[in-house]
Formats: sequence, structure tokens, C-alpha cells
Amino acid sequence: MELNRIACKVSAAAERKIKSGHPWIFEQAIEKLSKPGEAGDLVIIYDRKSNKRIGIGLYDPASVIRIKMLSTTDPVDLSLTWFHERIQNAFVKREHFKKTFTNAYRILHGENDGFPGLIVDKYADFLVVKVYSEIWLPYLDKILEALIKLEAYTGVLLRTSRLVQKQTKGNPDLADGKLLYGEIPEEIEFLEFGLSFKTNLRKGHKTGHFLDQRHNRRKVSNLAKNKKVLDVFSYTGGFTVHALAGGAKEVVSLDISKHALELAEQNVLLNFKNPKHSKVCGDAFETMQAMAKMQTKFDLVIIDPPSFAKRKEEVEMAKRKYAELVRLGVQLVAKDGILLMASCSSRIENEMFFTLVEQEISNSNRDYNFIEKTFHDADHPISFPEASYLKTTYFALY
Ligand code: SAH
Repeated sequence: MELNRIACKVSAAAERKIKSGHPWIFEQAIEKLSKPGEAGDLVIIYDRKSNKRIGIGLYDPASVIRIKMLSTTDPVDLSLTWFHERIQNAFVKREHFKKTFTNAYRILHGENDGFPGLIVDKYADFLVVKVYSEIWLPYLDKILEALIKLEAYTGVLLRTSRLVQKQTKGNPDLADGKLLYGEIPEEIEFLEFGLSFKTNLRKGHKTGHFLDQRHNRRKVSNLAKNKKVLDVFSYTGGFTVHALAGGAKEVVSLDISKHALELAEQNVLLNFKNPKHSKVCGDAFETMQAMAKMQTKFDLVIIDPPSFAKRKEEVEMAKRKYAELVRLGVQLVAKDGILLMASCSSRIENEMFFTLVEQEISNSNRDYNFIEKTFHDADHPISFPEASYLKTTYFALY
């Protein structure tokens, strides 16, 4: 395939940003383009003064992030070898997961692994390639070939973002859920720290499981012994299963989705014979309120909600929701219990979140101790500020 190469100059501010390693160039920062570009064309950025090459990216005409950077140092030819080497680098960084009886983890985490707008998650013998930008569509065959060269898989599935679904409408080869290679059953099984989970790679949230919270699930397992646990926003029971594995005396999974709760139960039964597990289907805010009224108490309350702020305009509302969840959570935590509070809202900054949680706890007039805060698990490396979205904090309440 003949690559279209475009020469480009950007604003002084954008130059400084890419020289510092930032992977995005916005539409307004582009000052000169040698020719009009199409999605996936190579853009070579030249220094405004010295005219030296300072970076290479991919052109994305449909996005305000018009150029997505691939490198500021190395040559980029998008050959099979280039893909192979880059993917192998990312692959090797995740090898250690295999030693923990974990066979589901992210192999490529977008920009942070040098592939802006592209995610690849591994679930046992299956891969999900999730494309967030059409810049990768011309290279899908090479990406697939490079992936299969590194490890043998039974099946590889294509998932696409809503934007890419619109852009590829009518093209069955690029449809969301298209099988790129081999075969994939309706349900597949994978291991997380030796525990079994089932998921549907075509229909599940994210690519099928919330891989980014894996390390927190292990922490919960270590905290759960003899505890009565409430898993709020349980989805398919990630935290629930780990709490039971850690010796919880009882776990309640709470979610608004009946289907998610059924899958949570299925995952529990996949691992335990007579689990002390129950499900509550309902709105988290209302249900926690009702539980608080009944004076129901838990030794460990896990609150891991969906994203409340994907856009700037949603920040204030999201802060109110988090505050409300903490207030409710505190009421449900028994004496000497623990509250785990997480946020995956990209627009809520880490410090803003941590301060908000502590403020609400301190307002409750209960004695408390901060235990720890965590971020994304290791297969979700973060190489620039905008990539960070997940933060979790643990408090002991007396
Ligand atoms: N903790 C989970 C991931 C949570 S995903 C894990 O580790 O796998 C968010 C979940 O919140 C989804 O299952 C969704 O059904 C649920 N949800 C969304 N809004 C809700 C609400 N108002 N009340 C209860 N559950 C809700």
C-alpha cells in the first residue's frame, strides 16, 4: 500500500507540546499542510524555524484532534515490521500477568502504548480490537497479522466506537462486532487472579470486563475476610467474586441492570459451591437510601459507579452525585468498616475527587482514617495527563 505523506507545520505552542511527548495536535494548531489529507495518512511535522523533522503522526480529518502522534524520534513506515515491533514492546510489558493466573488484560492502551485511538484487550485465547478513530482502519490487516504472529488466538473481534460506527456505516467488513479472525463463542471464559469469569465480548461494557480495576479487586479480596460486603454498581460481579474469594461472610451485589446481576450470579457460581451471595436490583442512590433508613450496615462498601462526567458541562452534576454516594456509603459502613470509592469520570480531576470524598466523610462527623488511593492497573499505563481517568480511594470509618 502506497502511503500518502503530508508535510505539516504547527503553532509554536503545539510544537512545544509534541516535543514534550504529548500525542495530540488540535485542528486550530495546524498552520500549514502540504496537501489535503485522508484518515490514516502519515503527517510529517517540521520545525517552524529549523525545518527539521520533529514528529510523525496520523491524519484524522473527522476529529478536532486532527493529528495523532506516533513518534517524535523514530522513523515510522507503518510496515508489518513496524507494527510487530511496537506491539511486541507493549506485549512484553504485560507478560507478568500470566504469572498471577490472569489471562485477561489490555495489550494496547491507545496513545500510552503508541497507538492513539486503538485498544487491544486479551481475554484468554481471544482478542478484542477496539477502534476509536478511523485512522487505523487502513492498517487493520497489518495490526491483525502482527498480533497473531505474537501469540496464537482462537478468535479476534473488531469493536468500534460510536463515531467509527457512523463513519463505517454500510461496510460489513468494518462493522462493530465483526469477526476478524477465527471464531468466538457467545460466551467466553477467562481468569483474573485465578478466579473464573464469563463474558460476552460482542455485547459487554467496554470490551467485556472492567480490566482497569483488576488490582482494586485483589485489594478487596485481601480486605474481605469475615466481612459483610456491599458491591454497589456491581455489573457482572468483579468485586463480588473477589470479595467472596477473600472469605467474605456475605456479599450483596447492587446494580440497576437485571441482566448484569444475572451474569454476576453466574460468575459467583462459576467459582463457589454455596456462596453467601445475594443480588439487589435497583437504582443505587434510592436503594442505598432505603438501606440507610433500615439501619443496614456492611463492613466493606464498594462504590464503583459508571462515568458521570464525560463532558465538561457534566462536572458539577457529577460532583454532586459523587458527594451523595459518599454520604450514603458512610451511612452504610459499620463501625471499624471500610469505604471504597472510585471514579472513572475523565473530567473529574484526581485531586478534585480525592478532596471531595474526604470532605464528605469529614462532614459526617465520624472518625476516619485515609487508607490509600490507587489509579489504573498496570496494563493501563498513562503517558499524558488527559489519559488518566480512574481513581479510587479507601477510608476506614470508626
Ligand atoms: N464495578 C464493576 C463495574 C461497574 S460498571 C466492575 O468492577 O466490573 C457500572 C455499572 O453501574 C453497570 O453495571 C450499570 O448497570 C450500573 N448502573 C448504572 N447506573 C446505575 C444506577 N443508577 N444504579 C445502580 N446501578 C447503576
